[in-house]
Amino acid sequence: MRRMDSPPDGCPCGGPSPLVACCGRYLESNPYPETAEALMRSRYVAYVQQRADYLLRTWHPSTRPAMLDLTEPCQWLGLQVRRIEAGGPLDEQGTVEFVARYKVGGKAHRLHEISRFVRENGQWFYQDAGEPGTRPRQSETRNRMARSQGSMRV
Ligand SMILES: [Zn+2]
Repeated sequence: MRRMDSPPDGCPCGGPSPLVACCGRYLESNPYPETAEALMRSRYVAYVQQRADYLLRTWHPSTRPAMLDLTEPCQWLGLQVRRIEAGGPLDEQGTVEFVARYKVGGKAHRLHEISRFVRENGQWFYQDAGEPGTRPRQSETRNRMARSQGSMRV
């Protein structure tokens, strides 16, 4: 049998590297993600793995919930990063627009969101999320859906 060209065991965030070499590093030990995008991807993986501790620890204190309930059965299907603004190692703010797909109770959903991040003392934090739709690049017919699913914050 021929091997496939694409690596079969990429990271759940969609990156080509295995989990341990991608988002797993951040979830399991201490290096902080250097970019807003890396944080965003690792937080998506934290949702996949139900790692509330990581989500809370990377949530900015000003918007962080007291607790996070991830017990609702949810199957994450994939993440697609659409657009990145700032969020580099030397920036203090950044935004990441993404689409995440997931299934709850056999029904597929699509979450389209713009997450905002801030960097403090060298660490990136998730701050809050805005909605796409103010951008001309796409006709966004699913805004209402994204809003009703706003409880998921990557
Ligand atoms: Zn990853």
